[in-house]
Amino acid sequence: MNDRHEMPTALPEGPASPPRRRLLAGSGAAAVVGLTGGRTVAAHPPATAGKAEPEGYQDTGRSPWGYDTWKEATPAPPGIRPGEQVLPLRPRAYTDVKSYHAHIYFDEDSHAKAARLRQWVIERFEVELGDWNTTPRGPHVTPSFYFGFLPEQLAVIYPWLQLNSLGLTILVHPNTDDPRSDHLYYAGWINRSQAVNAYGWAEGKVAELQVEKIYPNIKPSIRPEV
Ligand code: ZN
Repeated sequence: MNDRHEMPTALPEGPASPPRRRLLAGSGAAAVVGLTGGRTVAAHPPATAGKAEPEGYQDTGRSPWGYDTWKEATPAPPGIRPGEQVLPLRPRAYTDVKSYHAHIYFDEDSHAKAARLRQWVIERFEVELGDWNTTPRGPHVTPSFYFGFLPEQLAVIYPWLQLNSLGLTILVHPNTDDPRSDHLYYAGWINRSQAVNAYGWAEGKVAELQVEKIYPNIKPSIRPEV
């Protein structure tokens, strides 16, 4: 189940406009809140059928931001990439990697390639295959599917994916006790990289029990070509 990526971590409050903040605060559980680019938005409008329009939607004829935003100095944002703030004194042990995920990204023009690659994987590798995600899911901002595998399979699966990517964008990330770094800092990419929105995830380590484990659900029928 790759919805484990949708981790219940503390999400930063985005720069919502004053009416938006009032709307979110006032609608309570009725607003399903999602993240888009680190910004908090209401995925669905609150249930207000039959009621007056929420205060936040009223047209006051004035900008909710006020008229002094042009005066703001350019701020220095905090660093967002793991490992940048303090140099580690020693390297991490590679044995900290408990499993790997390969995320294969596609779109409306390349889904047939994704289907072909998926079928090839099913035939050849004993992996944990997830379902199709036809919309963004977790930190993955385009449609994708994923499969998980063990560290001892990396030496075969990584070059196999390099030679059989069909041009798709593929993320191969390890699973350690630091999921945020796994996605943002320890990532390997085939062909090219794309955005992975894990910046809102909590920094630091998770309990050992929470490290991604792999339970293969595919029985291959073909040995990989050599
Ligand atoms: Zn993953």
